[in-house]
Amino acid sequence: MKNAQRVALVTGANRGIGFEVCRQLAQQDYQVVLTSRDSAKGLAAVHQLSDEGLPVLFQPLDVTQAASVAALGKFLEEKLGRLDVLVNNAGINLSSQDRDVLTVALDTIERTLATNAFGALRVSQMAVPLMQKNSYGRLVNVSSDMGQLSRLGSSSPAYRLSKVALNVLTRMLADSTRGTDILVNTCHPGWVKTDMGGPGANRSLEQGADTIVWLATLPRGGPNGEFFQDRKRIAW
Ligand code: NAP
Repeated sequence: MKNAQRVALVTGANRGIGFEVCRQLAQQDYQVVLTSRDSAKGLAAVHQLSDEGLPVLFQPLDVTQAASVAALGKFLEEKLGRLDVLVNNAGINLSSQDRDVLTVALDTIERTLATNAFGALRVSQMAVPLMQKNSYGRLVNVSSDMGQLSRLGSSSPAYRLSKVALNVLTRMLADSTRGTDILVNTCHPGWVKTDMGGPGANRSLEQGADTIVWLATLPRGGPNGEFFQDRKRIAW
């Protein structure tokens, strides 16, 4: 099937890594649905890509809101009739409120999990059944090395917990779709120059999006249920 017939959905795509993933998938001719919880910001991002000759569609999406996810599912089913790629990219890092496991407010943990982990699960529960209708799907969870169990520390507990949970979710989704052409993987994009990464980060948006786009476009028989950085498997 040609890329132009494939539909790719990216969450939290009005800026940062998600925006760049939309650009790179559109450059490969995917029909990209750029989503944002703020419609004005999302439409501005869509206009920026259309000015570059990359027509992408906009849909509002707040991953913490069930009604918002349901409305997007309805749009995909009724207007586009399919979904081939999902990039669960939306994320928050409440760093100023998230210093140490002994002092972090439980509310900070709840809010972070609500977006970074439960949000990804909510969108996946809408998206995977659509993929199953066409027996094809590529699902990429944008995680972090902060969620690597093998190097876990006590700092940033809310963010770390949310990314560990996202990695566990990756394994569960991969198991659930095993034996089909739906591949579910997770990755660390590196330290990327975005609002979250800050200006001191050592990677460009292009570099940060690379492994995500590679996983979103894997050929049949590619890896399933693995954790990647720079297109290479890394330890959980
Ligand atoms: P960013 O520039 O802060 O962008 C985050 C995006 O997520 C924004 O579009 C934001 O929308 C959106 N978002 C937040 N809450 C949302 C919600 N409830 N519903 C929908 N969208 C929501 O961050 P980034 O650096 O591009 O990060 C993207 C992903 O990469 C995140 O999952 C992050 O954890 C991961 N990551 C980043 C780095 C790094 O160095 N930058 C390193 C490791 C992992 P608003 O504009 O409305 O806030």
